[in-house]
Amino acid sequence: MFKLDNEAALLDAFRPKDRKLVQLTPEVRLPQFVRNYLSWKHPGGTYVYLVFATPGGAPTGIVFDSNSGSGPAVPAMCDWCHLSSSGSTVGLLTARRNAKKSVGVHVCSDLGCQQRLEEEADRQGISVLPWWEKLIERMGRFASESLDIDLSGAGR
Ligand SMILES: [Zn+2]
Repeated sequence: MFKLDNEAALLDAFRPKDRKLVQLTPEVRLPQFVRNYLSWKHPGGTYVYLVFATPGGAPTGIVFDSNSGSGPAVPAMCDWCHLSSSGSTVGLLTARRNAKKSVGVHVCSDLGCQQRLEEEADRQGISVLPWWEKLIERMGRFASESLDIDLSGAGR
């Protein structure tokens, strides 16, 4: 869990080049204690935002292009929560590594992984906590390996 005090703290989680793309919506209430991660959509649907923190790491923000509607209408597995769903629930989200290169990940396109895992764990009668840990680990790996973001917050 981590705390976002205000809009400035939220923007600080993003790389400087991404900050101008960040647009808050009324559903993002600040200050906020964030359990696992915070996600919301750009009002026009252009972007999907993610702010998470790995254990001991700084809040880390990613701006994804939502590529709306480009997902295949076949069952697909989310790279992050590993749940399969049909239709357009799992889709390709892309984020900019640098000016020249974008990197994609196949995930629940609304980033609703946290809630889906909770529902699945409830259904199986087990604790969701180990799954949430893995989920944040995978987000962290994507940010550090695919986007070259320092999860400690250094150099941001
Ligand atoms: Zn997912």
